[in-house]
Amino acid sequence: QKGKYPERLAFYNLDLERNLRRKMTLNEALKGALERNEFRLMYQPIVDTTGQIVSFEALMRWRYREQEISPVEFIPLMEQSGRINQVGKWVLEEACRTLAQIHQQHGNICMCVNISLIQFYDKGFVNNVKQVIERYAIPGHLLHLEVTESLFQSEQTMINEKVSQLQQHGVKFSVDDFGTGYSSLSVIQNMNIDYIKIDRSFIQHIEQKGLSIVRAVMNMSHSLNFSVIAEGVETEKQRQLLEQCGIPYMQGYYFSRPLEHPGALAYLNTAMVQ
Ligand code: C2E
Ligand code: CA
Ligand code: CA
Ligand code: CA
Repeated sequence: QKGKYPERLAFYNLDLERNLRRKMTLNEALKGALERNEFRLMYQPIVDTTGQIVSFEALMRWRYREQEISPVEFIPLMEQSGRINQVGKWVLEEACRTLAQIHQQHGNICMCVNISLIQFYDKGFVNNVKQVIERYAIPGHLLHLEVTESLFQSEQTMINEKVSQLQQHGVKFSVDDFGTGYSSLSVIQNMNIDYIKIDRSFIQHIEQKGLSIVRAVMNMSHSLNFSVIAEGVETEKQRQLLEQCGIPYMQGYYFSRPLEHPGALAYLNTAMVQ
């Protein structure tokens, strides 16, 4: 019993040190990652109740030394260093370039782009989005910006203004990972949000507790005037239950994993032909 505690402490320090070292290494590597073309986007389809693809979500990938590092790990690092602003611009540009191609070939398909809260604090953010839309001649309503609930706990006036400025150009806003944060629905109503994406954790448990939450969000969507997307749909059973709740849009491995660009277009083509 006596020697146990210091031993554990030693393990703990080792873990801490290892974590810290990995963070530092990745941070260092992230500095030039954009210039070295180590980032790319993948695109995951979002379908309507008939199975038609109505939009794609752009998801970042980082290849570092023959390894794929998850955005769950590197996005927070870039948020902390502020690098997310520059890289976020690249993501927007790249996603809109793809959107323009899809739009030209297939008509009105939307592109969902994840935006970090940090990007809203960048003075050039609104202008940058407007410029990119103009440069690629994209109808604003085809661009959907996904933000998490934490956005609504920050500087309300500033965020509100930027959101509505972009909405005036047609751009749509979605609340990502809905149900995992703390936003109140009145805030969402004030913000005039266009879509709510119900977090995967509720869909995973839809056969138990998740169902009542999905139903509740669906009910609110009518009175608060937003539309609903279910995230992380993996099984036919989940799809059925969501359909019964009247969920209009779904996304998840059941329909398709995120796809490389050419694959996404090929998939889109066959979906349109059927
Ligand atoms: P998210 O925005 O909630 O994106 C959905 C995540 O769930 C993606 O993970 C996607 O691959 C995964 N997913 C989709 N369907 C399923 C499913 O049926 N089952 C399971 N288990 N997972 C599914 P990914 O690509 O690893 O991205 C993780 C997170 O990283 C994203 O979560 C988003 O918060 C962030 N992220 C990714 N790209 C960007 C970006 O360009 N900018 C910013 N700010 N964040 C990004
Ligand atoms: Ca998202
Ligand atoms: Ca999400
Ligand atoms: Ca997320």
